[in-house]
Amino acid sequence: MSNVPVAVVTGSNKGIGFAIVRALCKQFQGDVYLTARDPSRGQEAVAKLQEEGLRPLFHQLDIDDLQSIRALRDFLKQKYGGLNVLVNNAGIAFKVRDTTPFAIQAEVTLKTNFFGTRNVCTELLPLMKPYGKVVNVSSMASSSALGGCSQELQQKFRSDTITEDELVELMTKFVEDTKKSVHEKEGWPNTAYGVSKIGVTVLSRIQARMLNEKRKGDHILLNACCPGWVRTDMAGPQATKSPDEGAETPVYLALLPSDADGPHGQFLSNKTIRSW
Ligand code: NAP
Repeated sequence: MSNVPVAVVTGSNKGIGFAIVRALCKQFQGDVYLTARDPSRGQEAVAKLQEEGLRPLFHQLDIDDLQSIRALRDFLKQKYGGLNVLVNNAGIAFKVRDTTPFAIQAEVTLKTNFFGTRNVCTELLPLMKPYGKVVNVSSMASSSALGGCSQELQQKFRSDTITEDELVELMTKFVEDTKKSVHEKEGWPNTAYGVSKIGVTVLSRIQARMLNEKRKGDHILLNACCPGWVRTDMAGPQATKSPDEGAETPVYLALLPSDADGPHGQFLSNKTIRSW
């Protein structure tokens, strides 16, 4: 088993994830895994970074596929005995002009952004080594979507006692409500992406709380963040930040020094804690 520290970035064959891998290759003292659901897109991305003189490693990972997540889990356990840095970056967004029915957009978006990210956490958080860092890439869209929720939902999403099961129930209810076209009546905002990212931000708050309760002595720091508005296939060429600039806050959180006791359980953008 290797004693080398190890970092994993999900959805890193392009966009912000790719830039996070680039930055970690330069700054993280250990092995950095670029992961992709499609191995050929992943290998191409690795080759691009190799041309820059960097040495990322590759592992397949489709966060929609539990088998794929578990294969990575088993690999990390066997080769490294755990994991030091996990960046949950993989995500999807339908384009504004996409005419796919809203209920389908809700189901597909929540499947990857919330349920996929949660499955990765369920399988990989138990592997986190002491002083490990977990970064869940959410979005400011989660804050604005929160503002668009009914008072009752806002209270639940801001609660310091909401459980993961309760959050899963709420995310499932959103998808069901869109199918019945009652989501607005039920207090939800009209954004599947925004709700999926509420899920990611609230999940992070819950996971940080659980770490405090169950593994306080391990000093693991877990946060959610927004990378900003970044020029990628998702956000388009008009966005204000380059992918490398978008990587800055996630990388800052992934590389917090071992003597830092925070941030933990926070939502940040531009390396600054935002209120939730
Ligand atoms: P992007 O360029 O579209 O890249 C998304 C990455 O996620 C791709 O590598 C994609 O792989 C991967 N992915 C999607 N579904 C996956 C799955 N099931 N399993 C594994 N990988 C999967 O988007 P981006 O702008 O870099 O976004 C990265 C993260 O930042 C997302 O979570 C996004 O919501 C968030 N974010 C972005 C912005 C922005 O302005 N760009 C703003 C706020 C938050 P494929 O190539 O195979 O599709």
